[in-house]
Amino acid sequence: MPSPIAHSLMGYIIYRVTTSPFKGQNRYIILLYLFIANIPDLDFVPGLFVGSLGRYHHGMSHSIVFSLIFAFGCYIISGILRPENIKRCVATGFCLYFSHIVLDYLTKSPSNPYGDPVGVQFFWPFSNEYYIAPFAFFQIIHFGDSIGDFLLSIFSLHNLMAMSIEFIILSSIIITMELWKCRRV
Ligand SMILES: [Zn+2]
Repeated sequence: MPSPIAHSLMGYIIYRVTTSPFKGQNRYIILLYLFIANIPDLDFVPGLFVGSLGRYHHGMSHSIVFSLIFAFGCYIISGILRPENIKRCVATGFCLYFSHIVLDYLTKSPSNPYGDPVGVQFFWPFSNEYYIAPFAFFQIIHFGDSIGDFLLSIFSLHNLMAMSIEFIILSSIIITMELWKCRRV
């Protein structure tokens, strides 16, 4: 998986694409976007209860069907709170959730001693196969059944380099987008 930094930067890109350049930035809405862009990785939580953090990681929560279920959740919530914005909320919710899966698809997930799955289960429940892009270029290594082992595996020189690459690629997109928006304004 890419780091939460990459998912958050992608959430910010979607925020800037879907908001008017004439409006000020709302930090609470930005935080909500960043959170949604990271939601699929909450699939680590059930693993806590079975003593294997990666057991359910990159499974059903990283599928097109789950993205649609999330969009449906946005439809229900928006229908109650902001019915006038329902189409926008559903489309944005889907894009934010699905962006996570696309980034994970673009990430090399080398096999690790704990046998965590590689790739994402794009077509769950129709197929249990894991898919990964042949040209995947992001790469964060993480493994470990316990939180301690997991955190230790995250803090490595390799991952520092990988996060720097994520940051350079995604922040370049943000800077280009901002410059383009400024020119339009
Ligand atoms: Zn993920």
